[in-house]
Amino acid sequence: MSKQKINCVSCFKENLDKDIIALNKKLFGKETSNFYCIDCMANYFDTTTDELLEKIEEFKEEGCELFK
Ligand SMILES: [Zn+2]
Repeated sequence: MSKQKINCVSCFKENLDKDIIALNKKLFGKETSNFYCIDCMANYFDTTTDELLEKIEEFKEEGCELFK
C-alpha cells in the first residue's frame, strides 16, 4: 500500500485507514476512486459500523488479497 492519504468523499474525514480503503475496494470494486469512511459506508449500506468491522475481519480470515 502506498502512503498516499485518502479522504472520505462524503464527509472529508482525512487519512482513511488501510482496512477501510480495502473495504471500499471490496464493496465498490477495485477500480473505485471514491472512498468513504466507515461511518459514511454504514450510512450508505444502511448498516452499522460494527457490522462493517465484522465484515473486515471476515474478509481477512478468508485471506482476501485486498486486506493484506
Ligand atoms: Zn465519511
